[in-house]
Amino acid sequence: MKSKIKKCEVCGEYTLKEVCEGCGRATKNPIPPRFSPKDSYGRYRRMMKYGRDRSA
Ligand SMILES: [Zn+2]
Repeated sequence: MKSKIKKCEVCGEYTLKEVCEGCGRATKNPIPPRFSPKDSYGRYRRMMKYGRDRSA
């Protein structure tokens, strides 16, 4: 069973609803920051580039 849980970033409350019952704002999937595409891609690209340049 996949988790459909969402989180209100305003209240910090977890809910299954699209809209927070507490504040009425749209809820989001609670994805950990380390999965942020921008950050990880930037890091990997830098690591790979440096690694290959120095080992070549
Ligand atoms: Zn809320």
